[in-house]
Amino acid sequence: MTEQTILTLLLGIIIFDFVLERTLTYLNRKSSKQPIPEELEGIYDEEKYQNSQAYQAEVSKFGLITSSFSFVLLVLAIYNGWFGMLDQWIRTFSPLSLISPLIFFGILFIASDLLNMPFSIYRTFMIEAKYGFNKMTAKTFILDKIKGYLLTIIFGGLLLGILIYFVNAIGSDFWMYFWAVMAAFVLFANLFYTSLILPLFNKLTPLEEGELLSSIKAYCEKVNFPLKNIFILDGSKRSSKGNAFFSGLGRKKKVVLFDTLIEKHTTEELTAVFAHEVGHFKKKHILFGTVFSIALMGFMLFLFSRMAYNAEVSWAMGGQTSALHLNLLAFGILYSPISTILGIIGNVISRKNEFEADRYAKDTYDSAPLIAGLRKMSADHLSNLTPHPAFVFVHYSHPPLKERLRALNN
Ligand SMILES: [Zn+2]
Repeated sequence: MTEQTILTLLLGIIIFDFVLERTLTYLNRKSSKQPIPEELEGIYDEEKYQNSQAYQAEVSKFGLITSSFSFVLLVLAIYNGWFGMLDQWIRTFSPLSLISPLIFFGILFIASDLLNMPFSIYRTFMIEAKYGFNKMTAKTFILDKIKGYLLTIIFGGLLLGILIYFVNAIGSDFWMYFWAVMAAFVLFANLFYTSLILPLFNKLTPLEEGELLSSIKAYCEKVNFPLKNIFILDGSKRSSKGNAFFSGLGRKKKVVLFDTLIEKHTTEELTAVFAHEVGHFKKKHILFGTVFSIALMGFMLFLFSRMAYNAEVSWAMGGQTSALHLNLLAFGILYSPISTILGIIGNVISRKNEFEADRYAKDTYDSAPLIAGLRKMSADHLSNLTPHPAFVFVHYSHPPLKERLRALNN
């Protein structure tokens, strides 16, 4: 492919992505204004319903502004060859070509973070705060930033460093070796996320003696799940939105319940949510998800190895000579249609898994408290109760509430 064709392709994909995303969001916003279906009546009172409409309108308007901003910036950068210019400039002082990609991505990371910061501050401290969701102080926001930067430097820098080394030392077969490194990294992250990474941001405490623990204890005995793996997370440090999740593999598995969830739900509802999370483990969803993502990574790295050394790609990005980092960035854009399709497949599987976990909770515990809990959670999050099917198909990792309740009632 010529430089010109690649440039056209890059711009075409960016424009297509933007138009698709905007169309889906527009449809979804329109769909959210329909009357609430019968099955979901009573979730919102009139005031809460108006509140949810106002919240969704504000979030989608804000999304239009931020995505338009990034879109225009990216198109300008690609069209004018700004990434190539950055590469030229780095070459004037970077002593080793091995370090240039690290400097290149370091600068891009800082620049994009600074450009996005006003938006994320506005979203957290204006929109989320206005609807009573934000519990984050400025101090937590700044500390989160610093920790996020450190983690990116350590893990991002390390992985990128290994990739650069392999690309230069091994040649086009580098993808197999780097795949092994990435697979090890994903497994490591999965196993140690709740014990090493999460505690940097949140406090995890074991569930204390009481009504909830007794109820969960009885359930655990019934389904043979080790009780020592249940933790409470201080989600209230950042947001009033309650949540629960399952993490880890094998003996490292953990169920994490947010304190904000515990605050608002009854013991039965919480046990049902817990049963749903145990369902994910028993049905091996986490294991399959991990294997699936490692397989996709291999596919992606193989594709990247086909264009890692291509000079035309670097020229299309505005570079003068072939540069790994320019090609890697271009690859990220060229790969995005594939990643959109894979994302949709992943979401289809994930929604199926959610139904399975709900079913597991229903069979081993009870459906009524799960229904009550899900309804309450939707109301607390001011969720869109009538999302557009196309938006659900592309973006929803969980089925819409209406479908979940229908399945639970059957
Ligand atoms: Zn789930």
